[in-house]
Amino acid sequence: MDSGYFESIESKIPRGEFRTRFAPSPTGFMHLGGLRTALYAYLLAKKEGGKLILRIEDTDRERRVEGAAELIYETLAACGIAYEEGPNVGGPVGPYVQSERREIYGAYARRLVENGHAYYCFCDKEVLDEQRLIHEASRVPHRYDRRCAALSEAEIAEKIAAKTPFVIRQKVEQNGKTVFNDAVYGRIEVENSTLEDQVILKSDGMPTYNFANVVDDRLMGVTHIIRGNEFLSSTPKHVLLYEGFGWDTPKYIHVPQIMRNATKKLSKRDGDAYFGDFIAKGYLKEAILNYIALLGWSPGGEEEKFSLAELTDAFNIEGISKSPAIFDYQKLNWLNGAYLRAMSDEEYHAAASPHIKQTVRGDCDTRYVASLLQGRVELLSEIPAQVDFIDAVLPHELDLYENKKMKTDAAGAKKVLPEVLAVLGEISAWDKDTIHGEISGLVARLGLKNGQVLWPMRVALSGKTFTPGGSIEICLILGKNETLARLAAAIERLGAPSAQ
Ligand code: GLU
Repeated sequence: MDSGYFESIESKIPRGEFRTRFAPSPTGFMHLGGLRTALYAYLLAKKEGGKLILRIEDTDRERRVEGAAELIYETLAACGIAYEEGPNVGGPVGPYVQSERREIYGAYARRLVENGHAYYCFCDKEVLDEQRLIHEASRVPHRYDRRCAALSEAEIAEKIAAKTPFVIRQKVEQNGKTVFNDAVYGRIEVENSTLEDQVILKSDGMPTYNFANVVDDRLMGVTHIIRGNEFLSSTPKHVLLYEGFGWDTPKYIHVPQIMRNATKKLSKRDGDAYFGDFIAKGYLKEAILNYIALLGWSPGGEEEKFSLAELTDAFNIEGISKSPAIFDYQKLNWLNGAYLRAMSDEEYHAAASPHIKQTVRGDCDTRYVASLLQGRVELLSEIPAQVDFIDAVLPHELDLYENKKMKTDAAGAKKVLPEVLAVLGEISAWDKDTIHGEISGLVARLGLKNGQVLWPMRVALSGKTFTPGGSIEICLILGKNETLARLAAAIERLGAPSAQ
């Protein structure tokens, strides 16, 4: 490639802007750690008045999954993580999908060969396997033995002319150290002798992750790289590539990993690795986003509930911690409950309705049921089990009537329920105040405690000891006819004399 090729690409690099990026590999899932990286990059860009770029890193063809990029676009959009440039929004330094940039990587890999910071390697699998075996036998860490770095120009030309397959390897100067500064982990120094001459361009002309990542960050004008600390160990190789090209290195901000506990990462098997797992479990995206923002970053005060806009104001690199962030379900649940409670009646009804209808097939005032549930559940997925008595009373044993604290049992219920049936049967206005008034009157007339009437009512009407709302609310959910029918059925089952 002549220098005009590079000049025309590099002339497009935006200058003087704060630019960061989210560079996921499209695996078909949005890992929670990945989403947190996207969120931090977004917050940082917003905070600094800069731009966020989305770049799809899909050079690993074997791992490519149909529809995976779309899932990334959809998830980010659903979470409100907007980017100024990316595959589906365009921008000045595209394409933003690595598999569409193949020619660029080839050209830059050759440029690095010309600069003396990379070389052609013609070693085939057999040669490499043999080297590995020798290293294993002598118990030295396996690393490519750099034999092709010593080939003469004539030898290289001859092999290329003979169409011998080759890769291009980074030539790592073996003396000295590579040093860089990370905003979170501080100064990092690595002995160059520990770094391998990694492959940067594969024999099929595709770049490796490390190479494409560096070339793209440079050509896309990325000034700040924020990503998981699993990439900290690859960063020295990236720094050497920047140096090989004579480019300034960007600022690095590595963030700690999210762990399930002190030793275990979030995992697919435990169903806690992906954003979609949490949505399926009934978590709200606002709560997930708020929670993951706090995993590895601390706002420094007592406040824990932050909207995306509030996070944008509060976010700062200084608040990012070095230590692994341990996932705490209790806190996530609490936050989720806080978001549910903060919803308007309308919003809550819209969110809760599908979960109510999952269990309740018959008629039911979902608006009223939702009003009883709000503030009671931390997770929308708890709703189906809360409303399972609405279609029909749940099968139960008679000892469910027993409640020592309320001083009642099946025998008590047998006396009380016919009285309840009688007074409720007389009511014409089926509303809360009327029912409450009648039940209070009955309690007083019978000389009992509230619980001695309300507990048997709840059991008779629902077959449960915990329900959203109390016995009177259940009467309202069920309506007069159903309430009376359930009471009559319970009375019959208890073997009580029917009400006069
Ligand atoms: N493509 C890498 C990943 O999927 C991202 C690497 C980076 O952010 O530099 O995790």
